[in-house]
Amino acid sequence: MPFLRKIASLEPVSRLRYRFEVLCRMEGVHERECPLCGHRGMFRAHGLPPRFDACCPACGSLERHRLLGCYLLGQADSLLAGRRVLHFAPEPCIARTLRNAPLAAYVTADLHEPAVDERLNIEKIDKPPNSFDLVLCSHVLEHVDDRQALSEVHRILSPGGTAILMVPIVEAWTRTYEDEGIRTHRERELHFNQRDHLRFYGRDFRIRVKETGFEALSEFTAYGDLAARYGLTRGETVFTARKPGSPPSA
Ligand SMILES: [Zn+2]
Repeated sequence: MPFLRKIASLEPVSRLRYRFEVLCRMEGVHERECPLCGHRGMFRAHGLPPRFDACCPACGSLERHRLLGCYLLGQADSLLAGRRVLHFAPEPCIARTLRNAPLAAYVTADLHEPAVDERLNIEKIDKPPNSFDLVLCSHVLEHVDDRQALSEVHRILSPGGTAILMVPIVEAWTRTYEDEGIRTHRERELHFNQRDHLRFYGRDFRIRVKETGFEALSEFTAYGDLAARYGLTRGETVFTARKPGSPPSA
């Protein structure tokens, strides 16, 4: 573990100082703001090794949740008002925000998690075409047959409807890294950073989305002051894919 190795490599006094500095930062380094619950103040560290200022102590939001929150709330009138929304693998902090939004319908769905409105398989969604105007799908596609899932999301959307997508992606990679030979939990954790992940996306993710029939892929990326203010991961992106056709009127 590099974190422990780094500590072990230090002189005893430096080692103590390093540990002390890490511990001091666990409860927050800079004051941040949560767009989802409005909390302002220190955010807690999260993850191993710890990412400082990662977790909102009031609502539990992490960096990617707050990025999605900034995007959704920043254009709530055009994106959300009057829309029928389907939310796969709903994050509680996002779901709470959306339940208070002026939507025509809001349905949470998951294949395994019991605390959702409907048990749906994103690879074979048990809904007819034109069932929803907006589908939220954050950190789901790397777990499943993504081409099949994207085709299904496209099928159930209304003409002009949108899919909001977030995935683990390495922008320096031209090609997505996946290998069907990597099967065990331990191997997948080594190669894809989590035991149930099937791939790490490269920047060809955009091509993969468009190949399933979507057009006009737009991107909202954590940058500059926004990242500093809300404690976002710089460069992380929300992708919005639009299905061809006339958008539904709000
Ligand atoms: Zn919060």
